[in-house]
This record gives sequence, C-alpha cells and structure tokens, in this order.
Amino acid sequence: MTQRETGVKLRQILHSVPGYVAGRPAAAQSEVTPYKVSSNENPYPPLPSVLGVLAEAATEVNRYPDMAVTELTGRIAQALSVETEQISTGTGSVGVLQQIVTAACDAGDEVVFAWRSFEAYPIVVQLAGAVPVMVPVDAQGRHDLPAMAAAVTDRTRVLIVCTPNNPTGPVVSGEDLATLLDEVPPEVLLVIDEAYVEFVTDEQAPDALTMVRDHPNVVLLRTFSKAYGLAGLRVGYAVTHPQIAAALRKTALPFGVNSLAQAAAVASLAAEGELRERVGLLVAERERVCAALAGQGWNLPNAQGNFVWFPLGVDSARFAAACAEQALTVRPYGDDGVRVTIGEVEANDRLLALAEQWRDRPSS
Ligand SMILES: *Cc1c(COP(=O)(O)O)cnc(C)c1O
Repeated sequence: MTQRETGVKLRQILHSVPGYVAGRPAAAQSEVTPYKVSSNENPYPPLPSVLGVLAEAATEVNRYPDMAVTELTGRIAQALSVETEQISTGTGSVGVLQQIVTAACDAGDEVVFAWRSFEAYPIVVQLAGAVPVMVPVDAQGRHDLPAMAAAVTDRTRVLIVCTPNNPTGPVVSGEDLATLLDEVPPEVLLVIDEAYVEFVTDEQAPDALTMVRDHPNVVLLRTFSKAYGLAGLRVGYAVTHPQIAAALRKTALPFGVNSLAQAAAVASLAAEGELRERVGLLVAERERVCAALAGQGWNLPNAQGNFVWFPLGVDSARFAAACAEQALTVRPYGDDGVRVTIGEVEANDRLLALAEQWRDRPSS
C-alpha cells in the first residue's frame, strides 16, 4: 500500500542525524560456515549458569523490573570497590551515554569526541539537540588529546574519550589522560568509554577507576555487551560522583534495564572467573591474528579491543566485499577503513587468508 505523505512536523535535526548502521548479519546461504564479525560481539554463547537464571527470570516477566536495579547496582559497586551511590545503570552503555547527554546538555551545547570513533556518539549528541565537535584521530588511530582539549569552549558540557577506541583499536595512555584531566575545566564532564577494557593488555592504559575517585567530573562507562557476552540484553553502567550518578538515574528511561538483563548481569558477575577465561582466549586470538597480519606486512593500529582495524581508505568497500564473498561479514566505515571482530578461530583464520590474498593481489 502506498501511503500519503504525513503532514506531521518532526524535528529538523532528523534530516541530518544518520541512522545507526548495525553490523550486518552473517550471510544466509553459503557453502562455508558464515561468520558475523561486524558487531564486536562475543562469539561464545551464554554460560549455562546464566541461561539457567534467565529461564527462571522469564517466569516473572508479567511483573515490572526492579526500577532501582538494586541487586545489580550493589554487585557492581562491590566488584569495583566503590559506593553504590556512584553507580547508574542503563540500557547498554549507549543508553547511559544518552542519560549523560540528556543530563548535561541544553540545545546548542557542545560535546567533544574523537573521530572516527563509536558511531553512536554523533547520533546521541544530535538527538539531544547538542552539537558534536569531532576531533580527528591521528594516522595510528589514536585520540589527539591536546587537540581535543583545545576544542573545549564555554559551550562544551561533555568530552568523550573512547579507550580503546572503537573502531581503530588503540588506548589512550594514562599519562596523556591525566594531562587532559588537568586541562579540562572542572564543570565539563569527562566521559571515559571503556566498553572493551577487559581486553586491554597495553600497560600504558589508564586506571580510570582511580580517576573517578580523584576527579568529581569523570564518568566511567562500562558494559555487559562485550566481554560479558550479553549484547542482546542491553545493560551497561556508569561509575561516577554520587551527584552525577543521581542525575543519570533521573534521565534514565524508567524500567529501562529489564528483569532478564538484571538477572543475567548479576549471574555474569558471579561467573566472573569463567568469563575472564573466555576473554583470555579472545585476547590470545587477537594477538595471534595481529602477529600474523604483521608477518604479512600489514602495519595496523595497536588493537586493544576484540577487533582489528584495517585503514584501507577508498579500498574499504572492496575489501569488505571480498570478505563477504567468503561469507565473512565485516564492518566497512566509508572511506576510512574496515573493522573486523575477533571471533571464532575459523573466522579469524579466514580473515588471515583473505588479508594475505589482498596484500598479494596486483594493485589496481
Ligand atoms: C559496543 C560499545 C559500547 C557498548 O554498547 P552497549 O550499548 O553497552 O551495547 C559502548 N561504547 C563503545 C565504544 C562500543 O563499541
């Protein structure tokens, strides 16, 4: 049915806000096993203990969830040795980021972040009526923190540091972040997005929890989506000053963190050891893949998350298409590059074979 155009007036900003591009699903038909390595998901299925808790929680979904997210909040605080009042949960850390921008920004206020970085940032910022100020990463995919500090104006309310940076991979160093903290005015929120912190091995990485303790304008963002393997349930959290955490609870979608998500996240914290083992295996796979790629002659940014970044420029779409032909669904980003998640061993091997062929191809 063709519909008439609606005459309803929607916000002007919707014309310029890009829709979120999710990683495409794995190829449906293929002679080889298709793999989706386009969304930085954890390839391991939920632990049996987590599935058991989910089945039990499912029997009560006729009831609203605990709006205060009491048990999970307490367990997170305990695990991180911080006060319960310092934690605020949300529907994934994207949800928490939306709470942060809603709490901090009036229309026209500015949010500074690196680019390329997490694609949700410009969307969340613009939907809040705030203005994204994007500061280019350097040739190695690293944040240019001095340039970000210099981009702060009296309209800046939030500055986001993504470490390790999605999609390019490197961390910011603790030293550089400390310098940034000294330069940013205390009334500006400094958000440290650590969605991949569990995968980090670089010893230069910041101790963001200590920064939260020492600086009342720091917000640490963490998630159960990546290392904990609960991407489908949507739960993340902020660790920050109690007054900021209280503000984030006010701007949260009521009952946003559903009862299944709460139960599974609590069970995952209880199974921390088992989950850390899986993270260890993924990190070992990342190191294997990166060493092999270096051996093939690739000079890639330092991969500290569960993904590798190929800065292929205008060749990005062609590389992604070549991967798709081999039933490997990767994530191209315009003319910047291609991000590939560390997945099943077979998926990683297929990537290595493709990457080698790509380097050996006659240049076009
Ligand atoms: C995946 C990711 C998140 C987490 O998203 P959720 O909403 O928690 O699933 C946050 N920040 C970055 C940089 C990410 O890549």
